[in-house]
Amino acid sequence: MAIQRLPQEIAAKIAAGEVVERPASVVKELVENALDAGATSVRVELEGGGLDLIRVVDDGQGIAADELELAFIRHATSKIATLDDLERIRTLGFRGEALASVSAVARVTLASRERGAGVGAQLTVEEGRVGPVVPAGAPQGTSVTVRGLFSSMPARLKFLKTRATETGHSLRLLEQYAMAYPGVRFISLSEGREVFHTSGSGKLFDVLVAVYGLSVAEQMVPIGETALPADERAGEMASPDPDHPRVGGYVSKPTSFKATRHYLSFFVNGRWVQSRSLSYAVEEAYHSLLLTGRHPIAVVNLTLDPWLLDVNVHPAKTEIKFLRERQVYAAVQRAVRAAVIETASTPEVSPRVFSAPVWEPVGGPLGAFRPFSAASTDAPVSADGEQIATAAPISEEQAPGGDQGVVADAMSDGAPSATSLWAGQGRIAAGERVNGFIAPGAPAADELVGGTRMPALRVLGQVSQAYIIDEGPDGVYMVDQHAAHERILLEKMIAEWRSQAGAAQLLLEPTALELAPAERDHVEEHLEALRRIGFEIEPFGEEAMLARAVPATLAGKLRGQSLRDLIVALAGADADAASHGETWEEHALANVACKAAIKAGQSLSPDEQREMIRQLEGASAYQSCCHGRPTLVKLSLSALEREFDRR
Ligand code: ADP
Ligand code: MG
Repeated sequence: MAIQRLPQEIAAKIAAGEVVERPASVVKELVENALDAGATSVRVELEGGGLDLIRVVDDGQGIAADELELAFIRHATSKIATLDDLERIRTLGFRGEALASVSAVARVTLASRERGAGVGAQLTVEEGRVGPVVPAGAPQGTSVTVRGLFSSMPARLKFLKTRATETGHSLRLLEQYAMAYPGVRFISLSEGREVFHTSGSGKLFDVLVAVYGLSVAEQMVPIGETALPADERAGEMASPDPDHPRVGGYVSKPTSFKATRHYLSFFVNGRWVQSRSLSYAVEEAYHSLLLTGRHPIAVVNLTLDPWLLDVNVHPAKTEIKFLRERQVYAAVQRAVRAAVIETASTPEVSPRVFSAPVWEPVGGPLGAFRPFSAASTDAPVSADGEQIATAAPISEEQAPGGDQGVVADAMSDGAPSATSLWAGQGRIAAGERVNGFIAPGAPAADELVGGTRMPALRVLGQVSQAYIIDEGPDGVYMVDQHAAHERILLEKMIAEWRSQAGAAQLLLEPTALELAPAERDHVEEHLEALRRIGFEIEPFGEEAMLARAVPATLAGKLRGQSLRDLIVALAGADADAASHGETWEEHALANVACKAAIKAGQSLSPDEQREMIRQLEGASAYQSCCHGRPTLVKLSLSALEREFDRR
C-alpha cells in the first residue's frame, strides 16, 4: 500500500488513544482541568460506568465565550506559553490535548461562565465536529458533559471491563484527587446515587476517613510537615526550598497494614503519580517493622521546585522523572521512618481493659499478678487455680522496701544468671564473638533514622509467665516477653550480620535434613546466604543434606524436624517475597529470631527480666516485634487515677 496521509479524523482518534484509555482517563483529565481552574467544589456524575455519561461540574474561573472553541483545538492551552514554562510546570494540565482527545472519541458539551461574566456560553463537539457557540445560562464555572464515549470505536470498547469495574476505576481516581486536594469539596454520583463525597475542610485526615473509613484513618499518623498548613491545597507551592523536597501526608502505624501495595498514594506538586521508587522508599521505611507480605497504607504529598521534575514523560502524565531521584527517595524514606518510629510509641491500654475483674482489689481473689512483696515468694495460684511460676523478688537496689531487699538478697543466690536466657551465647564456637549483645550505639536495624528512645523502666515482676511488669515514666508498663526477645535478637543478629560478626554454633550431632527435590534445590541455591547468617549445611549422600551448625542464637532451641522446616522456609523465601526493603538475610533473620525467642510460659528470674528490659531499651525499634506486634503497652498514671476515682 502506498504511503498516504491519514484523514484528520483518524489521526485524531489515534492521538486520542494515548490520552483516553478508558472512562477513568476522561474523569482524570476533566477533574485536572477543574482543579487547574481553581475550583473549590468538583462534582462528578457517571452513568453506565462512564460510557453513557460523564459530567464534571466545577466552580472554577471558567472559560471566556470567545475561547470556547479554542479549548478543543489540540495543543491549545492557557497553561504554558514558552519553552521555559515547560521546564517549570505548576499546573496539572499543559499539553492542551485533553479536550481535543476526548471530543475525538465522544460527544462533548462544554458550558462555562467566566468569573465576572454576566452570561455563559456553550459548545458541543461530536467526534471532532465542532458545533456553534451559543449563549447559555450557566453558573460560574465550567461543566463538561461527555456522552457515548468510544461508541464509534468498537475496538476500544471491547477492551473495557464491566461497567461496575469502570465505575470503580473512576471512583478510585477521584479518591486520589480528593486526598491530594483536601481543600476541595468532591462529590460523586453513579447512576444518580451519591457514591463519594468529601467536605473540602482542608484537612487530609477528613479525606482519609471518607476514603478508607474511620477505623483505618485512626491508625494513621501524619508525616513530615503535614501538621503545618500543608493540609492546604497540595498544589499550591510556597516557594519550596529547592534542595529539600517537602514531604507531608499520612502513613499507617506498623500495627495496621494491607495485603497489597495498592494503598500507597503519591502526589507530587498536587499531581497523582505512580512511582515504583517512591513505593519502595515507603516500604523500606517500615523495615523490620512489618512482616513480608504486609504493606503499609500511605498518602504522601511531595512539594518540590517544578524545575526538578519532568512531568512530560507520559501522555497521561501519571509518571514523572525526578532530577534528583536519590534525594527525593531519601527524604520520603526518612520522613516516613521518623513518623512510624516516633508515633509507634507505646500503645496506651485503655482503662476499660483494666476494669474489674481483671485487676482484683487487694484482699479479693488472687489474680495472676501479685504485686511485689515478701509473700510473693510463695508460688501464687492463678485465678483458674493453676500453679504459676514464682515471680522471684528482684534484687536489693530495685526492691521497694528494706525488708523485701533482705528477702531478695537471700533469694537471688540461686537465681539463674542473666545470660542463661541468652543460651546460645555461652557456647559459641571458638573464635566467635561471645556475649554479642548490641552495645549501645552499635549499628542497629534502623541506622537510617534514629528513633525515639524507650523510656527507662524499673522491673516489678513477671505475670503469667508471659509479661514483665514495670514502672516507668508516667505509668505502669507491660512488656510481652516473646515479642521483646524477638526484637532484641533480631537487632542483635542483624548488627552481627552487617559487621560479619555473626556467630555460628556447631551442633553436637549434625542434623540430617530430609528434603524433597525442590526443597533441596532451594537449599543448595541458598547455601552461601545461609552460611552468612550462621547455617552450615552440606550435601549428604544423594538425597539428604546435613546441617552442621546453626546461628548461635538458635543453638539448642530447634532440632530435628523443626530445624528442617525452618531451613526449608528460609531457603524457599525468594528475594521478591521480602518487602519493606528487607534483604533475604534480614527476612531470614527475622524468622530465626522468632524461632529463637523465648515463648510465653517460661518463667524468668528477676535478673533475666531486668536484662530483657535493659536490652529492649537498647533496641532501635523497640516498640514492636518483627511482625509488627507491640512489645510493650502502658497504663498511664492518669488512667489509673481515673480508675480509682481519684479524679
Ligand atoms: P490543558 O489542560 O493541557 O491546557 P485541555 O485540553 O485539558 O488542555 O484544556 C484546554 C484549555 O481549556 C485549558 O488550558 C483551559 O484554559 C481550558 N479549560 C479546560 N477545562 C477547563 C475548566 N474546567 N475550567 C476552566 N478552563 C478550562
Ligand atoms: Mg487539561
